[in-house]
Amino acid sequence: MSETMTKGAVLILLGPPGAGKGTQARMLEERFGLVQLSTGDLLRAAVAAGTEAGLAARSVMEAGGLVSDEIVLAILKDRLAEPDTVRGVILDGFPRTPGQAEALDALLAGQGLSISAAISMEVDDAAMVTRVSGRYTCASCGEGYHDSFKQPAQAGTCDKCGSGDFKRRADDNAETVGARLTAYHASTAPLIAYYEQRGVLRSVDGMGAIDTIAADLGAIVTDITG
Ligand code: ADP
Ligand code: ADP
Ligand code: ZN
Repeated sequence: MSETMTKGAVLILLGPPGAGKGTQARMLEERFGLVQLSTGDLLRAAVAAGTEAGLAARSVMEAGGLVSDEIVLAILKDRLAEPDTVRGVILDGFPRTPGQAEALDALLAGQGLSISAAISMEVDDAAMVTRVSGRYTCASCGEGYHDSFKQPAQAGTCDKCGSGDFKRRADDNAETVGARLTAYHASTAPLIAYYEQRGVLRSVDGMGAIDTIAADLGAIVTDITG
């Protein structure tokens, strides 16, 4: 059983690539029974499935640009319509543009919901290249790892599921990280002011240890839903 009733909660994790959004979203999911919703994961699934949206998104993602609001919103709406999301959601990597933020507000308002908190994960850009370049995940359960910062307890074996199969993202290299950081500052960072104006902005120091950040985020979730 998860700790708190988070039904209807809508949390947003804001931060550049490598900030730790995915790592922390999975931990919040486990602790609070929320559902992680990563538009990056949804888009990668669409690319792998070869859908029309996936075909359109593929080259943009490989270059480290932003996929069009239209495609991302369609994918997100479909996922939000699935019944498990009533447990409450953590949006990881969405919204990423003012247009997406406005569309999300309208979508939630239509369902009588609103944003519980948008949490900015504050990190140094310079450290994100190392974080992203060393990232890999379990091919079986999706648990995230890092070459230097988060290695499995037993080398080559996933801590969560025991699988020995790991994968790396095609876009996780030093070249695309630069483009992705530029896209973050141009299109996504303005959302920090957007959510501050709406009174839902919170922030955490994203440069500490994974468990310290998890505790800081946990305190925020407990505060807003408890
Ligand atoms: P994002 O989803 O924001 O792009 P991730 O959660 O995938 O970021 O983290 C990027 C990489 O950095 C992963 O390899 C992860 O294991 C590692 N990582 C996450 N948080 C930290 C942290 N606080 N300190 C060091 N490494 C971290
Ligand atoms: P990271 O956390 O490392 O930035 P993501 O998995 O969130 O990576 O996103 C990977 C790529 O998918 C992005 O570089 C972008 O091309 C695309 N993408 C993901 N989410 C969005 C979004 N909300 N809007 C536009 N493009 C997106
Ligand atoms: Zn695993």
